[in-house]
Amino acid sequence: MESIYQTKDNKPFDDLFLHKGPKGIEAYEDVVKQVSTKLKEVFSNVDRPYIGKKPSEIQKEILGLSQLAKRGESLSDFLEAIDVPILKNSLHISHEKSVAHLHCPPLLSGIAAEMMISSLNQSMDSWEQSTAATYVEKEMISWLTNRFGLPAEADGVFSSGGSQSNYMGLLLARDSFCEKYWGCTVQKHGLPEGFKRMKILCSVEAHFTVQKSASQLGLGADAVVTIKTDDHHRLSVPHLYEKLRELREEGSLPFALVGTCGTTDFGSIDPLAELAEAAHSNGLWLHVDAAFGGALIVSHTHAYKLDGIQSADSITVDFHKLFYQPISCGAFLVNDSRSFTYTNHHADYLNPESDEAEGIVNLVNKSVVTTRRFDAFKLFVSLRVVGIDRFREMIDHTFSLAKKSAQLIDRLEAFNVLNVNPELNTVIFRFQPEAVPEEQLNTLNHSIQQQLLHKGIAVIAKTKVQKATYLKFTLLNPRTEIQNIQSIIKEIEFLGVKELEKRRMIQ
Ligand SMILES: *Cc1c(COP(=O)(O)O)cnc(C)c1O
Repeated sequence: MESIYQTKDNKPFDDLFLHKGPKGIEAYEDVVKQVSTKLKEVFSNVDRPYIGKKPSEIQKEILGLSQLAKRGESLSDFLEAIDVPILKNSLHISHEKSVAHLHCPPLLSGIAAEMMISSLNQSMDSWEQSTAATYVEKEMISWLTNRFGLPAEADGVFSSGGSQSNYMGLLLARDSFCEKYWGCTVQKHGLPEGFKRMKILCSVEAHFTVQKSASQLGLGADAVVTIKTDDHHRLSVPHLYEKLRELREEGSLPFALVGTCGTTDFGSIDPLAELAEAAHSNGLWLHVDAAFGGALIVSHTHAYKLDGIQSADSITVDFHKLFYQPISCGAFLVNDSRSFTYTNHHADYLNPESDEAEGIVNLVNKSVVTTRRFDAFKLFVSLRVVGIDRFREMIDHTFSLAKKSAQLIDRLEAFNVLNVNPELNTVIFRFQPEAVPEEQLNTLNHSIQQQLLHKGIAVIAKTKVQKATYLKFTLLNPRTEIQNIQSIIKEIEFLGVKELEKRRMIQ
């Protein structure tokens, strides 16, 4: 008689999962081999950062793919089918001339970690679903709180990135203020009656997710009061004090101050120590958005710029920017672990209160999401395999490249650089030959940026500075060299001159 405990040698779905049986192991090896062969081919043939197609062309090619096969098709046929539409039509972020956004080439150690993360598929909500991963994340959080100089009571949790971390910082700030000021538990009772008086302060150059978080937190984007910046695009402290006075006089309740460590455009760093002092003397929660600049913890040349961050109540740091991890990977840190009471909700099936008494660590208590990826592993693997020294060298290389690039462009007659001495690794400039009237410069630079993209020459960013269009390099790639920048600049000049000639002929 067949035992009910007996399992068949070959079950119907054996080739679809990674498991102990021979079919599972073989199928896994085959999948990895096929995908890596395909990617090798794609990456060996990358000669431009972008293929240059228009959005509509790509959309059409993707539409052509969308017929689903009822019984499935072989992976190799599928990889052939997506070769151009998806793989070759993608932005090649690891190309030296892909220098637009805070969007990094991923380290191979991060890619290796991703393979393990998805194969193990741990979920970071409860210890029972992430038995070892929970402790890896805790180790990485300790490493970070140490590096940022936070006290022993500090704590943190990994997040999907800067947006989520900023949201969490302001959530804790809001709830802690409502408790202190009104004795109101927002988690349970919602916002107190006087909530419309609550204000968040940040500089005009802070990230838009400050406003977005205020909206999502029920305070409304209007609760964000922006402060002017100084000549170096840093929050102006005299203006901060002035604004605080004004707000108090009108009966508003400023409760949070967001300092930025690395603004998206200029990479500028607010005077964090002075912000900490202002926050402290005015009873404000200080949240530091170091999504970009947090990487300075591993820099030799720039680490001193972080001074003051150790006094923040909460900190945002991203690893899918200057730490070269595959998307997504970020962390949210707090100065005092007790702040997490405001994110803590218990569910009997997942993280019962009794677990806490038994010392069982359920990381869901600290997060705004439930199922969560083991992203901390990417940082862990990379710190071990790449090593802190090479991280430091890579990051410092990009800072020095930015400086060299800014100086190089500054020496050219037909160009104007706004930050000849970049704070981090962005360079903001425009093509501005003499005798071209101001009103033409915006469309001219816009057109140059688009042509570079659609000719697949280089992927650079455009931004607005006081309503004028500028071009931007975000130099994250440690493999980008000054020669690459020189060649992009040559192309910009070439395209710019051609565009001006075309315009003259039309006139
Ligand atoms: C990138 C960035 C964010 C948003 O982070 P995501 O990881 O994209 O969600 C917030 N603030 C700053 C300063 C950033 O650079």
